[in-house]
Amino acid sequence: MKLLYKILLWNIVIVAVCLGVGGYSFVNFVFETSLERETKQALDESSILQFAFETAALNIPSRYDMLQDTTIEEIGYSLEHGGQNNSTRMLHISDEERNTLYLGQGFGVDEGFLQQIPKDGKIYQLREVNGRYYIHTGCKMEALDRVLHLETMKDITQIYEERKEGFEVYRKVILFVLVIASVIMYLICRWLTKPIRLLTKATHKMTEGDYSYRAKVISNDEMGQLTDDFNMMAANLEQNINMLENEIQAREEFIAAFAHELKTPLTAIIGYADMLRSRKMDEEKAFVSANYIFTEGKRLEAMAFRLLDIIVTKRLDIEKQKIDTEKIFDYLKEIYGEYDRVKIRCHYEKATIKVESDLLKSVMINLVDNACKASDEGGKVEIIGKRLEQGYLFSVKDYGMGIPEEECDKITNAFYMVDKSRSRSRNGAGLGLALCVEILRLHNSELHIESKVGEGSRFSFLIPWEEVSEHEVLD
Ligand code: ADP
Repeated sequence: MKLLYKILLWNIVIVAVCLGVGGYSFVNFVFETSLERETKQALDESSILQFAFETAALNIPSRYDMLQDTTIEEIGYSLEHGGQNNSTRMLHISDEERNTLYLGQGFGVDEGFLQQIPKDGKIYQLREVNGRYYIHTGCKMEALDRVLHLETMKDITQIYEERKEGFEVYRKVILFVLVIASVIMYLICRWLTKPIRLLTKATHKMTEGDYSYRAKVISNDEMGQLTDDFNMMAANLEQNINMLENEIQAREEFIAAFAHELKTPLTAIIGYADMLRSRKMDEEKAFVSANYIFTEGKRLEAMAFRLLDIIVTKRLDIEKQKIDTEKIFDYLKEIYGEYDRVKIRCHYEKATIKVESDLLKSVMINLVDNACKASDEGGKVEIIGKRLEQGYLFSVKDYGMGIPEEECDKITNAFYMVDKSRSRSRNGAGLGLALCVEILRLHNSELHIESKVGEGSRFSFLIPWEEVSEHEVLD
């Protein structure tokens, strides 16, 4: 059953019970009050009748100072009718032996009650006779020489009928109130449960794969807070799923590129090897073929090492040490000192940074190699080191071919090459920059690329300053 209907049903039950109990108590209270009033009246009446009887008996002249049965009957009759014929009062007068001396019309004699009448005081009971209700009172009275029993019966059917009528009216009122209350409660419940319906709709949308759907916030209460939290959770989920999808796509692209990079040299190697084993060639041709197999094999080997480097770097937990930047630049000068295809110039400011020095050198070599490859013969490459407020900035600048703007974002992806044939001819496999990015990530740094086609490129990264203790200094 829906929550809306559950709340509605419980509300209706509670309202019905409350109205029922309240109404029953009210009608009953009115009845009890009337009954109490009637009882009091009946007892008062009994006292008055007792007094009236005794007075009347005294005033009747009697020859022997004795009260005759016929006189008692006469007095009884006149008291019962009280001068009117439509009296609701009935009397029963009996003598010492409880023999009836006067019996009003319709009075039902109750022997048990008669016997319970005390010497002093009064008793009463409620009775139902032939579908009508009465207050039956009883007392003893003394007149002249006689002790008599006086019983009265007062018709109170009216208040029972009023109670019945009260219940009837109240039943109709409850029914009417319940119908109106149910309609109002239904509307309120629908309004209160609307956020739940909106949330349910959002979860269904998400189950169907629509992670961008958000539930509408329509209140500032706990439900509004829950909807906000749900939307936040959905946003995080969407972000994570997008990230996972991007990662899966990147992996697929990586595998496709890897397979492609393997296929090209392998096809050449297999082709040349087949030629060498199946035909006789002159020495020069055989050398060219064997040389091709050798260089392509070397390229594959280099690619395998680079891939291994990237994988290892991804899982590496590096131990950084303090090093003077001068040492890094000295190392680069040493490596590229004999290089004469392009002029390599170093400008740097001295500083001490905290890095994994071998990995940082590897980044610099990759960048300088790329800069040299991109430069024409006799071109210029600058390696710059600068102290900045946030850290130490390394830059490698060339004045070579440059990179088209739309390619700048992609060249750090594994196996990505702007000019494939040119890169391959220079033993490239599009893995160098991917490795640089991984190494810089371990140093909390990023690679920045600025380039213009025909004017050259500038690759730079910032190594943030870090506090170091003396024992960490690298000699
Ligand atoms: P590779 O091993 O092929 O050099 P990289 O990842 O180092 O692979 O570089 C990816 C591609 O980025 C290169 O193939 C090249 O096309 C381009 N590239 C890198 N550095 C430069 C540069 N300084 N000038 C122009 N193009 C560059």
